[in-house]
Amino acid sequence: MVLMATTAGDQQSVDVLIVGAGVSGIGAAYYLQRDHPQRSYAIIEARGALGGTWDLFKYPGVRSDSDLHTFGFEFRPWRSSVAIADADSILAYLRETAAEYGIDRRIRYHTKAVAATWSAADTSWTVTTENTETGERDTITCRWLFSASGYYRYDEGFTPHFEGRERFTGPIVHPQHWPADLDYAGKRVVVIGSGATAVTLIPAMAGTAAHVTMLQRTPSYVLPVPTRDKLNARLRRLLGEDRAFAITRRLNIFRQVAVWRLCQKYPAGARKVIRDLNAKMLPAGYPVDEHFRPPYDPWDQRMCIVPDGDLFRVIREGTASVVTGQIETFTETGVLLTDGRELEADIIVTATGLNVQALGAMTLTVDGTPVQAADRFVYKGMMLSGVPNFVFVFGYTNASWTLKVGLVGEHFTRLLSHMDAHGYGTVTPVADASMPAAPFTAFASGYIKRALDRLPRQGNRPPWRISPTYSADAKLLRRGPVDDPELRFEAVKESVSP
Ligand SMILES: Cc1cc2nc3c(=O)[nH]c(=O)nc-3n(C[C@H](O)[C@H](O)[C@H](O)COP(=O)(O)OP(=O)(O)OC[C@H]3O[C@@H](n4cnc5c(N)ncnc54)[C@H](O)[C@@H]3O)c2cc1C
Repeated sequence: MVLMATTAGDQQSVDVLIVGAGVSGIGAAYYLQRDHPQRSYAIIEARGALGGTWDLFKYPGVRSDSDLHTFGFEFRPWRSSVAIADADSILAYLRETAAEYGIDRRIRYHTKAVAATWSAADTSWTVTTENTETGERDTITCRWLFSASGYYRYDEGFTPHFEGRERFTGPIVHPQHWPADLDYAGKRVVVIGSGATAVTLIPAMAGTAAHVTMLQRTPSYVLPVPTRDKLNARLRRLLGEDRAFAITRRLNIFRQVAVWRLCQKYPAGARKVIRDLNAKMLPAGYPVDEHFRPPYDPWDQRMCIVPDGDLFRVIREGTASVVTGQIETFTETGVLLTDGRELEADIIVTATGLNVQALGAMTLTVDGTPVQAADRFVYKGMMLSGVPNFVFVFGYTNASWTLKVGLVGEHFTRLLSHMDAHGYGTVTPVADASMPAAPFTAFASGYIKRALDRLPRQGNRPPWRISPTYSADAKLLRRGPVDDPELRFEAVKESVSP
């Protein structure tokens, strides 16, 4: 059934204000209007377009590394056997989803949330917004604030300090700010990095560039996966698109959790399997251990996916190569390594990552007290201790982000139904302040480690721990009760609007 928006998106006062119109904001809006069509809501989006990540990044080859049968929404089948999809297809899917459910009409573009203040007296948030084109400030009030603002800064990617950077005479490009007119045909390109972006860029540029060198300090795990899901293609022919999607999605969710569990349980075996796969796809005598053997165990950091082994193909073809070493300095003509090797370059790409940012950089205040995310405990991975009527989404690092969007969206609307049924207007997770705290995640990727002191913390027991897998969250968020002794509910105040 197609649900239609019931309230115009230009009110200054709404029941629920969603911040961000990416995968998370669109997903949150869907569940809200499906389960609570009577509630008014709006989405504010700092940029001039929806889609977030999938609209922002423009570097060659931008694509998912998750399969779209799990990265797409559960409620809107990904109707293709192409499992690893390019950014344009994902963006088209998000635009179509937003249009089909009338969600696009609720989005207020160029509207950035800069601050949000909760008032217990009014039982509402007052959100200060900034028009990102004019700088003009305004306010919106809401009963609920839903942060779907992603996890990184849009204005600036992460670049470490490189000695001698100013000496290099060619362009130095960060993938987050890819110049539309960058001509790399016939040029020697050095890509610094070994993460998902580097392994995506390199096969996309190889062949057009004279040569592409991936310069990495430390290797990552690189796993070949098929672009096309053959089983899904067969199921589509046999059972039709929708049933094929439902089965593929279940299988892939199971596979993601199973692979992660196996890697955690048998790291040595997992290392060997990945190494053997890599060796098979690389030329005979290739120094696999030098370039593809990370010092950590599989899934301690996010694994890199290469569709149909494209990275290995361009290495075999000789249009790309990998160098593992430490940068001493940039020079006029390239990069000098600490071991004396020199890499000649016409263009340097710094695929060095993102700047993680919590809650869209909004400052939160609860009844006059500023909220530092790092001082708060995470409740069920979706709320913060001591912060009333506030939900956020932070997706999985070991599975498709969107899987979490679905579970948080459902749990949120069940919580609203519970509150409606009991006449509650406010809910606040209340944590025991003496509970031992742990970092937001044990995930060891550099971009996460750099941000841990700005992210909320976990406690030492449920519901204050973040579930490591989708299956654990499905139990907690989809099937588990919403009522909880660690939530403080307060009755609706009759005199209050909206
Ligand atoms: C290149 C790349 C590839 C990725 N591939 C995958 C993948 O294959 N699988 C996977 O699971 N994950 C992947 N990720 C992670 C990815 O970001 C998420 O999966 C997902 O797209 C995040 O959606 P989101 O809506 O939460 O955040 P975003 O896509 O970041 O969208 C957030 C939106 O909120 C807006 N916003 C932020 N702050 C404010 C504010 N204060 N006020 C108003 N608006 C605000 C932003 O402008 C943006 O439009 C990838 C990330 C990158 C960078």
